[in-house]
Amino acid sequence: MLSAPPRTKWVYRFREGSAAMRDLLGGKGAGLAEMASLGLPVPPGFTITTEACRGYIAAGGLLPEGLWEQVLAALEETGRTLGRRYGDAHAPLLVSVRSGARISMPGMMDTVLNLGLNEEVVAAIARQAGDTRFALDAYRRLIQMFGSTVRGIPDALFDRELARARGRARVRADAELTAPQLDAVVRRFLRIYHEHAHEYFPRDPMTQLRAAIEAVFRSWNGDRAIAYRKLEHIPDDLGTAVNVQAMVFGNLGESSGTGVVFTRDPGSGASGLYGDYLPAAQGEDVVAGIRATRPIADLERELPAVYSELQSHAAMLEKHYRDMQDLEFTIEGGRLWMLQTRTGKRTGEAAVRIAVEMAGEGLISRQEAVLRVEPHQLEQLLHPRLDPGAGAQPLTSGVPAAPGAATGVAVFDPDTAAAWGAQGKAVILVRVVTSPDDVHGMAAAKGILTATGGTLSHAAVVARGMGLPCVVGAGEMEVDEPRHKLTAGGVTIHAGEQLTIDGSTGAVYAGAVPMVPAAASPILRTLLEWADSFRRLGVRANADYPRDAEVALANGAEGIGLCRTEHMFMEADRLPVVQAMIMARSTAERERQLARLLPMQRGDFRGVLEAMAGKPVIIRLIDPPLHEFLPDHDSLLEQVVTLRTSGNHPRKLARLERVLHRVQELRESNPMMGLRGCRLSILFPEIVRMQVRAILEAACELRKASVDARPEIMVPLVGTEAELLAVKADLEPVARAVMREQGVQVEYRLGTMIEVPRAVLVAGAIAPHVSFFSFGTNDLTQMTFGYSRDDAEGKFIGQYVERGILPRNPFETLDPAVVQLMEMAVTAGRRAQPRLEVGVCGEHGGDPDSVVACHHLGLDYVSCSPYRIPVARLAAAHAALRE
Ligand code: ADP
Ligand code: MG
Ligand code: MG
Repeated sequence: MLSAPPRTKWVYRFREGSAAMRDLLGGKGAGLAEMASLGLPVPPGFTITTEACRGYIAAGGLLPEGLWEQVLAALEETGRTLGRRYGDAHAPLLVSVRSGARISMPGMMDTVLNLGLNEEVVAAIARQAGDTRFALDAYRRLIQMFGSTVRGIPDALFDRELARARGRARVRADAELTAPQLDAVVRRFLRIYHEHAHEYFPRDPMTQLRAAIEAVFRSWNGDRAIAYRKLEHIPDDLGTAVNVQAMVFGNLGESSGTGVVFTRDPGSGASGLYGDYLPAAQGEDVVAGIRATRPIADLERELPAVYSELQSHAAMLEKHYRDMQDLEFTIEGGRLWMLQTRTGKRTGEAAVRIAVEMAGEGLISRQEAVLRVEPHQLEQLLHPRLDPGAGAQPLTSGVPAAPGAATGVAVFDPDTAAAWGAQGKAVILVRVVTSPDDVHGMAAAKGILTATGGTLSHAAVVARGMGLPCVVGAGEMEVDEPRHKLTAGGVTIHAGEQLTIDGSTGAVYAGAVPMVPAAASPILRTLLEWADSFRRLGVRANADYPRDAEVALANGAEGIGLCRTEHMFMEADRLPVVQAMIMARSTAERERQLARLLPMQRGDFRGVLEAMAGKPVIIRLIDPPLHEFLPDHDSLLEQVVTLRTSGNHPRKLARLERVLHRVQELRESNPMMGLRGCRLSILFPEIVRMQVRAILEAACELRKASVDARPEIMVPLVGTEAELLAVKADLEPVARAVMREQGVQVEYRLGTMIEVPRAVLVAGAIAPHVSFFSFGTNDLTQMTFGYSRDDAEGKFIGQYVERGILPRNPFETLDPAVVQLMEMAVTAGRRAQPRLEVGVCGEHGGDPDSVVACHHLGLDYVSCSPYRIPVARLAAAHAALRE
């Protein structure tokens, strides 16, 4: 005898499924199944699998064989448990059709409620419920929902008709319309349907159901769904499940209602039910915002028994899923029904609090708590934020490009920003667009605002690197740079007037909006301490000033991985001396200027070493090309030409001509690859000798004052062993001399950056001469790709990422090929020098995915901006825990 071919199971009753069957039943279906098997009151129903959806699409829009029969059987059973039948005129069953993919996503078909109604069934329900009004209300909702979601008729047409009916009846809420008035609405709705769908509204309940199911399947390939999946990297072949569920009615009078609750507050993480409900309403009313919802606490007063039942279901679901849940419920005639459970979305603040408190309650382990918070979620928590209680109204808004809020006076050019910033003024730099020429002004600002650009624009990238709040692309704002003013929302703000930006939302405000502080809360500190107990990778800060070092320490830095000395050269009181030093015609003259700089540098280093007492501080010797400290070539040329033609100010002209001449001498066609880094140390050794003297004098002074100063000296841009040896031979005698003069021994260490591909190849030869390597991943990325960062980010990386030529911006997240180079250097370096310490300095050190890569490379530490340290600590713990 022939056995029947194996039949695919397309349909699962709720009690046949479980939370583990998410792939097949979708998130909503799996949740309904799980709640049903936990014994919670879930209206009966069934789920059509994602596999059926895939089959339907593959067949070009044909229901897979056997599916419809299985639907009919399950429908029959659903009704039987309730003593009803779908389409029956005596005891009719109504159902909802709800889409639900494995990952919840926008663009999928909206739910259709009340399927199964027609004139006959309406009459039957009216009779049974003793409420004609209610039956007609359900029918008008079905016609609208079916019309709009299944047939694409604009909702507005129905909404307008309903508003007219309210107007004629002189009532404000739909719930106040009488049965005859609703009957008229139904007739008009049927006419709208006919006019726009070019067919009569399907009176046959089976036709309604089948059309709704097929529409859900088709919505998987709707434009919005496809666009969303592309953006979120969700595979296109998952398909969506369809849930068919017996209706329960929240619109059945006053002891009925519907609502949404979270088991904890998704904003703050506070425990206790949080949410809203609406009496006498059906599901879609809560979200539609047509009627003001009521806080869930009101339910406790009005239906205390229902409230406490809801509370106990919420508690049980949270315990069962071991995470905060987002629940939908409906109350029908005083009886509670659960309609959805899913893991609730939450803010960074709530994520931290919920994780820590759940671990405290013993619901999850500390490891799980640490893994529950995504590192990037911490960004929201660590920048000062606008006080939500202040209720400020924005003037305009743009693209939120770097989180945090900032208040300061508006400034429209970088030089003024730098000058005012140096005077200690809080400044917001406002530009049409920023370029590398603006960086000194940006560094001195508290926030950046630009009229153009997106999240990958120069302003955005630099601001994120500096940990500065930033709003870009505020297109409705008019920025008049020459006149130093901006106009937005009818308000004009001149230079020197206060302005507030919120880089987390993109909003721009006039004046100063009150802030709430950024310091890590005790709860966040607890989570980070747990993270520290799991991570192996060290975390240090890039900090140039004592104040940065203090922020770094407060955020948990274990040292400074990069202190850039050139930033100190840019300060207003130093720059003239630095310029005179660069202008010097002889070594003797240069040394005279350097002698003036020495005490200033010594003071800088002393401050940083003291703030970081007991922890390593890596100080990098001068790195940028010298012309960066001189005025810009083109503007000098312009000034010289103007003065020459006017014949005025001969002495000023002579001075400017000298500067111009020097700038022309120093000018390079490709400064990034020119005279910089250790090349400068070799050609102008007196500069770095002064720096080393300043470092060791500061350290010796501190040692004498019993402060445990731990300076480490780092040579930038080394490409050959001989370069390193030349610099080392020059500097070691200086260090020894200082210690002899001071009569103190300081165990300083010497290391090198690895940022030129050639250094990777000779890492084994370099390693024996140094105590540490530090990857300058920014330069290493530039030179590996042959991109200059500013040009690449300004011109083509955005396009590359969009078109998939690059998976992501390699200046934000370490590129795998760059990681491979790093691995070569680590292996060769440690083979030659087993005690070699290896770290990363540069923005990648604060990027969660790059931190994971550094963990797998077995590095000793990453070093990042002080503000990103918590992010790096958490990311390092994730890497260790996920191993
Ligand atoms: P979404 O994914 O947009 O939340 P849902 O399928 O959850 O869509 O449904 C939208 C609204 O309809 C929700 O408020 C839900 O609780 C309600 N709803 C869905 N099915 C039923 C049903 N069988 N009985 C009563 N209300 C329902
Ligand atoms: Mg829902
Ligand atoms: Mg570098």
